[in-house]
Formats: sequence, structure tokens, C-alpha cells
Amino acid sequence: MSIDYQQQAVAGVRALMPYQPGKPIDELAREYGLDPQAIIKLASNENPLGPSPVAMQAARGALDDLCRYPDGNGFALKSALAERLAVVPGQITLGNGSNDVLEVIARVFAGPGDEIVFSQYAFAVYPIVTQAIGAHGVQVPARDWGHDLTAMAAAITEQTRLVFVANPNNPTGTVCPLTDIEHFLNQVPERVLVVLDEAYCDYLTGDDEPDASLPLLARFPNLIITRTFSKAWGLAALRVGYALSSAEIADLLNRVRQPFNVDSVALAAATAVLSDHEYLQRACAVNREGMTQLEQGFRRLGLAFIPSAGNFIAVDVGDQAGAIYQQLLARGVIVRPIAAYGMPNHLRVTVGLADENERFLDALGQAMADCRV
Ligand SMILES: *Cc1c(COP(=O)(O)O)cnc(C)c1O
Repeated sequence: MSIDYQQQAVAGVRALMPYQPGKPIDELAREYGLDPQAIIKLASNENPLGPSPVAMQAARGALDDLCRYPDGNGFALKSALAERLAVVPGQITLGNGSNDVLEVIARVFAGPGDEIVFSQYAFAVYPIVTQAIGAHGVQVPARDWGHDLTAMAAAITEQTRLVFVANPNNPTGTVCPLTDIEHFLNQVPERVLVVLDEAYCDYLTGDDEPDASLPLLARFPNLIITRTFSKAWGLAALRVGYALSSAEIADLLNRVRQPFNVDSVALAAATAVLSDHEYLQRACAVNREGMTQLEQGFRRLGLAFIPSAGNFIAVDVGDQAGAIYQQLLARGVIVRPIAAYGMPNHLRVTVGLADENERFLDALGQAMADCRV
């Protein structure tokens, strides 16, 4: 008798749908026989500038010590972050990307039978980590594609342990003003943890600048803010993210994370890039200009889009979105279909360099013509 290992897996894992990443350039090149150099990838909200030279130099420097374990406490990176963000190092939990931190938070505070609240169209990792730990996901209907914080507060029950709020949200790019976040936190019972996922905060402009949420940490002991080096800081491959919280919560998170979850190359590069102010400024400037370029292109093509505060934008290409995605692939342009998010008519496009955006818009116009949209 052979054993059915599907049945041996814990219930949450049996029903789990794995995260679907953007298609890698090399994979598309193999599948379509294309030159990898001629492919543009606007599918994973990566920084189009390439990595910061300051980060690369630090990463190279770390190679000399590859035989050693990394600093499991991330002393240098935590010190640099603490100084930049005006927190103490004890409030920081480092992660192998912020995905790692999100999972650690869920494992520390929730288990089978508990409820975790998040919004419709919110980041796909929230339902995945919820299910993996056997907790029950409570998905609250969105309002105008964004988080309905009033409804989310109302969805909290005795069983709720955790609420995930992505601000700005991926894949919609919607953002809640800080005053709304503050109002929401006032409504949430203190025993319920609120995770404010700020993966895209570096791109914020206007009244709510990137670090405007940080003072909330002192006022709301149940608040955890998560951030990443994968987007504006241009280090997606190295996998570094972190959580900011009270020192008490950070202590709990640090008990559960893997002891060496951030490697030494990643620690060195992330620490160094924090001093490269010019890189971050350029990333934001290129993003602003590219966002305008894409919006104008969509208007020319008569397409509706969701105004975005991130480095990506969701555009409504109609019910042929799947076919248009395929047509774009055939033309060497990778974007992200988001039907799995319940948005079958939208494609999510990362803001690229000016010539990449232009090539994408040209290819999109052709793909729409081919699909007779
Ligand atoms: C990209 C992203 C993250 C971060 O991913 P990591 O690379 O694991 O740091 C977190 N939250 C949202 C909403 C994202 O889009």
C-alpha cells in the first residue's frame, strides 16, 4: 500500500495555492526562442534602474567572508535603519524579504481557528500565509479597488488575531491617507495586531511622505510596520525586508525567525544602500515620470486605469486580458495578469525606464489590435 502524502499534509497546506511570481526573462526567452537582451520585464515591481553601485560594491566586499555565517543579529543594518528611522535597534526584526517577516508575524500571533482580516484585491501573500498556518482568512470587500478600513474594523471578531493592511496596496496601487489609518487603529482592539505593509512607501509623495506613519508606533502598541529593500531600494534578488514594532513584539518575532535569515551579502548591500540618497531620489523621479508616461499612453489607447501610488499600475484592457498578456509575451514584454486577484480584466504593469514604457505601450496597442479589442 502506498501512502497518499497529500492526506498527510496539514489541512491548510493541502488546499494551498502557491504564490505565482512574474515570469522570469530567461524562461520567456527559452519558451519563445527570444533573445533575453531584447525582453523587457515589467512584471514584478522591480527597480528598473539596476542596483545601486554603492550596494554592489558592498555586496562584492562581503564575498571575501562567504565561509562565515552572517551576523544573525544584523547589527550594522539595524543600527543604520535605527538612525535613519529614529527607532531603536530592538524594535527591528529583519527578514529574508518582507514576505519572510509577514509569515513570521502570522506564525507568532495566529494559529488554527484564528481569524486574519485583509482586503479584497490585497497582496496575495496574506491569504497564503493565513492558510499555511491553518488560520481562517476574512476577506473584506474593497471600496473603489482600495481598502475599506471601516468595513475591515467592523469585520474584527473575538477570533481575530491579525489584520493586514497594504499601504500602498499591490496590485491596485491604492493608498489610504494616514489620517484614515490612524482612525482605523483607534477602532481596533489592542489585542489585535495590525500589520501595515509599506513595501511601496518610498514612492509616496504629497501630504503622506514615506515615514509619516512611524510616529504611530509609539501610540499604538499593536502596530507592526513592514518594509522592504526589494522595490525602491533595488535589491529584490538579495531578499531583505524588516518589521518595525514595539521592542516586546520584536522580541517575539525574533524568537521565531530563522537565526540566519538574512545572508551577509544582503546585509552588506542593504546597509550600504541606505547611504545612497541619490539612488533613491533617482528611482522616485524615474517612477514619477514613467507613471505619467504610462497614464498618458493608456488615455491615448482609451483604457481605464487605477491611479497608483506605487511603482506599478493596473490597467483595464477588457475581457481579452489573458490573450493580450500572451500577445505581449510573444513581443518580448512581460507584465502581470491579475485574474488570480479577482481582476480578470486588468493587467499590472511595473513602471520601467522611458524606452521600456514606450515599447510596452507600442506592444500593447498592437496586442489590442490583434485581439480586436
Ligand atoms: C513586493 C511586496 C512585498 C515585499 O516583498 P519582499 O521582496 O519579500 O520584501 C511586500 N508587500 C507587498 C504588498 C509587496 O508588493
